[in-house]
Amino acid sequence: MLEEIINQWKNDPEIISNISRWEILPEKKAEYASFPEWVEPQLKKALQNRGIDKLYTHQAEAVETVYRGNNAVVVTPTASGKTLCYNLPVLNRIINEPHARALYLFPTKALSRDQVVELLGLVEETGIEVNTYTYDGDTGTSIRNHIRQKGHLVVTNPDMLHSGILPHHTKWMRLFENLRYIVIDEMHHYRGIFGSHLANVIRRLKRICRFYKSNPTFILCSATIANPRELAETLLEEPVVEISQNGAPHAQKHFLFYNPPVINRELGIRRSAMLESQKLAARLIQEGVQTIVFTRSRLGVEVLLSYLREKFKSLPGHDSGLRGYRGGYLPNERRAIEEGLRRGEIKGVISTNALELGIDIGRLDACVITGYPGSIAGTWQQSGRAGRRTGQSLAVLVASSAPLDQFMVNHPDYFWQNPPEKAMVNPDNLIILTNHLRCAAFELPFKEGDTFGNAPVQEILDFLAEEEVLYRSGGQYHWMENSFPAEEISLRSATSENVVIVDNTEAQPRVIGEVDRFSAPMLVHEEAIYMHGGQQYQVEKLDLEEKKAYVRAVSVNYFTDSNLSVDLKVMEVFEEEKEKVHRHWGEVRVNALVSMFKKIKFNTHENIGSGPVNLPETEMHTTAFWISFPEGTLKGMSRSEVQSGLIGLSHLASHLAPLFLLGDPRDMRAVSQVKSPFNELPTLYLYDNYPGGVGYSQELFKKWKEIFNTARQRIYTCGCLEGCPSCVGPVEEVGEKGKEHTLQLLEVLCP
Ligand SMILES: [Zn+2]
Repeated sequence: MLEEIINQWKNDPEIISNISRWEILPEKKAEYASFPEWVEPQLKKALQNRGIDKLYTHQAEAVETVYRGNNAVVVTPTASGKTLCYNLPVLNRIINEPHARALYLFPTKALSRDQVVELLGLVEETGIEVNTYTYDGDTGTSIRNHIRQKGHLVVTNPDMLHSGILPHHTKWMRLFENLRYIVIDEMHHYRGIFGSHLANVIRRLKRICRFYKSNPTFILCSATIANPRELAETLLEEPVVEISQNGAPHAQKHFLFYNPPVINRELGIRRSAMLESQKLAARLIQEGVQTIVFTRSRLGVEVLLSYLREKFKSLPGHDSGLRGYRGGYLPNERRAIEEGLRRGEIKGVISTNALELGIDIGRLDACVITGYPGSIAGTWQQSGRAGRRTGQSLAVLVASSAPLDQFMVNHPDYFWQNPPEKAMVNPDNLIILTNHLRCAAFELPFKEGDTFGNAPVQEILDFLAEEEVLYRSGGQYHWMENSFPAEEISLRSATSENVVIVDNTEAQPRVIGEVDRFSAPMLVHEEAIYMHGGQQYQVEKLDLEEKKAYVRAVSVNYFTDSNLSVDLKVMEVFEEEKEKVHRHWGEVRVNALVSMFKKIKFNTHENIGSGPVNLPETEMHTTAFWISFPEGTLKGMSRSEVQSGLIGLSHLASHLAPLFLLGDPRDMRAVSQVKSPFNELPTLYLYDNYPGGVGYSQELFKKWKEIFNTARQRIYTCGCLEGCPSCVGPVEEVGEKGKEHTLQLLEVLCP
């Protein structure tokens, strides 16, 4: 069926005229290597019984590297047999050395589940005693002691390692004394805040291993990113060998770049990406082609799901094969959807990147990506969901009208010729480092002059001693507080708390989902429409103290979107460069307030009303890059023209910055001030959207020219007259001649 649709699309002028690139990735044959000689016969036999009688070349290279005692990072696509790269050396070692132990880390419980099933099957096949246990929040207390004493293979996640294992290391002596391997799967998850935390958890882990005199080898696996070895070496602070020549086979794949048609040339308005995706996906699903549709937001999932359900209403049998999938759905619901996809019962799933990688849903036929995911790496990861070993598969990227999308769809070579982005982490983020130093001091005392990984920490230790968190005696720093530091530190964000969503429609209230504390003011303010499983709910009350949002089922023809207003103040300058323009990198304080929301009509996306939001503002200290125009550089421009140019510039820069940083567009935000309180000059700020910052703005301080050059290119290629959402922003925001004013500023930035 897929082949037929592909052929029809090739000959359909209505489709083909929207396609800016039709790339065919050729079929790739497998490359094999034989088992290394050191593989124990019973392990080899067990693998053969499971249908593995030779290795892919990358697997052979990985297991050899690890066998020789070197750390390895394996970078290959989904379903290329990466788990064998660690299971083989680990099991082989345990056969030879029955006391040996290994620790497996997965970013989430959900991601470890499928891997454990596979591992248990292999262990059973070998017939040897390898005690394999998952140790996480769900592990019963009665079995915990048994795991600590007897577990050869302990599967856990960074959060549990941080708060449940490291602080109690004395109970885990057997594990730490005999720890030979540490497996870190899905390494690409560890970027930004989470990665910066993990780097510090690893510092603590290695410190405890040294105490128990073990020196484990690390095996890491990652999806494709630009700098896997650099990221691995930053996380471990040790040399790592990179293995990235994939030996696994894959079938032919069609990859299409699709730009929705223009419906108003002057205003630069295109048909919505959502509606075009719906059209393409409906065609595929209707023909029984198993399809995943990615959207960028949770709201997108719900809107698209209700559009498609509506469309299939008249076709009996089709509706039951459609599901939504996103964060905020409860675990049982998600498991059922994954299972349905694996069995082929679910024909179509609309998802956020929650289903991006790692979770086993089998291989699908087609993938429709609604809106550029914000990075080259993310695009490859999502498109990787479609692809069987034989036959054909299809991935379509449907561009939205955002500048980055329009840049990509108009310059497809940029995507096809560039490596994916770098993953950034900042292990020395002062807030994160200090928090983990407290945890580390609780675990084992520090000596004067000690470092923590590569970080010099004497100054922080003295500070903590002054604050009476640590007690200094005989050249050592001891923990002296009663509290347990790891408990109050979340690895996922600055705040660990979620707001639960309670449905009050029936007499018996029930919890239907959750949102994180930071997003709550934007998503579940009073009167917001919250969507779940295609059903609409209106928020009746948001109780931030109790962390509950009360909702009631409704049926309306709109969804809501909230406006965020931001105030920014410079606190400290870390670096500056005063040439023609002034550039800075430093610390800022950001105050954010959700002040109002808009009601947006389904299908037409018209604005049909608005209302106020009365919630307290949130405050955050973070790092920012900012650029100012000194007097004389903008001669001849009035203040309002400068303002219009700055608005255009912030629209472009905030949308294009993710091109140069592996990050979600939400990781960075832009603010402009026509006369900044900092230096009284017109200034554009781009800040890390996380407390303490994670290194994006520092990178921008170096890469600013590339971003502004790309911005200029975007304005030149955009077909609109005065400005549109695809370049400097809609005319209502940027003003008439917005394009011209933005170009004037860009002339100064990159002459
Ligand atoms: Zn435009």
